[in-house]
Amino acid sequence: MTATTATTTPPAKKPRWTNQWLELYDEVIQTGLCTGCAGCVISCPHDVIGYDHQAGGYKPFHLEDELGPGDCVHGQKGCTTCTRACPRFRTWEADADEHLFARTREPDEMSGIYQDVLLTRASDDYVHRMGQDGGLVSALLIWALDHGYIDAALTSFVEGDGTSWKAVPGVASTKDEVLASAGSRYTYSANTLALDDALDRGFSKLALVGMSCQSSVPPVMWHRKVGKISKPIIFNIGLLCSKTFDDAIFPELFEAKYGLKKEEMVKMNIKGVFQIWMRNGDYHEVPLKECHAWTREGCKCCPDFSAEHADISTGGIGENNDWTLTIVRTDLGREIISRMIADGSILARPGDEDPGAIDLMRRLSIVSRRRWPGTAEASVKVGVPPPKKKKKA
Ligand SMILES: Cc1cc2nc3c(=O)[nH]c(=O)nc-3n(C[C@H](O)[C@H](O)[C@H](O)COP(=O)(O)OP(=O)(O)OC[C@H]3O[C@@H](n4cnc5c(N)ncnc54)[C@H](O)[C@@H]3O)c2cc1C
Ligand code: SF4
Ligand code: SF4
Repeated sequence: MTATTATTTPPAKKPRWTNQWLELYDEVIQTGLCTGCAGCVISCPHDVIGYDHQAGGYKPFHLEDELGPGDCVHGQKGCTTCTRACPRFRTWEADADEHLFARTREPDEMSGIYQDVLLTRASDDYVHRMGQDGGLVSALLIWALDHGYIDAALTSFVEGDGTSWKAVPGVASTKDEVLASAGSRYTYSANTLALDDALDRGFSKLALVGMSCQSSVPPVMWHRKVGKISKPIIFNIGLLCSKTFDDAIFPELFEAKYGLKKEEMVKMNIKGVFQIWMRNGDYHEVPLKECHAWTREGCKCCPDFSAEHADISTGGIGENNDWTLTIVRTDLGREIISRMIADGSILARPGDEDPGAIDLMRRLSIVSRRRWPGTAEASVKVGVPPPKKKKKA
């Protein structure tokens, strides 16, 4: 018998990742793709990336000036962490998809890859009342704390006594803290930035609650092997999002035009219009068209409406104002939701009971994808239909 030798071609070696702050600055920050998610800030091992929290800011910047704002001494020596952590750098969508789902999205998966769509609400009336929609996010965090999945969550609070409406990142490690952070603020809060505080307080199993842009940070970090800093985030809850507003909207629109002082506001929501409830019981609606001029800079090119890289994505669209539209994407998301339904912590109905909501999510995802510039990574726009031509009057 003659021995045969199989000839197999070795798999092509991935090119070495050499991209650093220089490339991040040129390709993401200077081009307007940067969302302000702060992935680069929290991952930097040399602590040389700062973050501008002021109105009109919400952007990272380099703290050292040896090489100017667009280059980094550590990057020149081989550090590549910031580009590895950035969920807008090059093939970020495909990288996160591959990591979470072992495939990239099909062209018709405009809202990303998912397993189930449900309508859910917290069974506990108080949790439900404190939540923005169905209180699912708060219920998830409380349940995950109680059942040992996490020991704290990176969420968003309102600075000071609550009357400033300045949304700030923070850590919630108890039921009371989760409920203190419930509800939606429509200005930006880079919740990833609460990571250092959580680690300093000794927490090591974290949930991240974040806007769509923030919820792509963990899977991109994992896929591109950022290392130690990416490990503590284990449960990722996303908030559907078409935009956030600059803080200047309070004095320049709500107060200047409508006489609504932020100190007197108690709740806000967006349901086709900007809804505002005041302390004295008054209710006001501001047309969204009037708010657009205050769209935060970092949202203008954002292509992700549906928080496509979270374990569970949550939104308030649809005909049921007090239920949360719930998109279950990963096995971990499904495990947690199934256990919560089984033990009665949440009520759930099939998403098919509100087909309009699923259709609207798809349509809004298309609208967001259209904002992604044609000059940036092309795969993000794959499958996006061209806009319908307006009929001539
Ligand atoms: C800025 C913004 C824009 C949104 N846009 C849409 C939209 O266009 N369509 C849609 O269907 N849904 C949108 N949502 C999601 C929706 O408002 C609810 O957050 C979601 O349905 C979950 O509701 P819930 O009752 O389950 O959450 P809750 O139990 O109320 O929990 C909400 C969680 O969101 C966190 N949070 C609140 N404000 C912020 C903020 N500014 N940044 C980061 N985290 C925050 C809170 O800390 C809390 O953990 C948006 C949310 C925000 C914050
Ligand atoms: S998108 Fe996020 S990670 Fe990328 S540069 Fe901006 S803040 Fe940094
Ligand atoms: S639209 Fe929402 S998800 Fe996109 S960058 Fe703005 S805040 Fe982030």
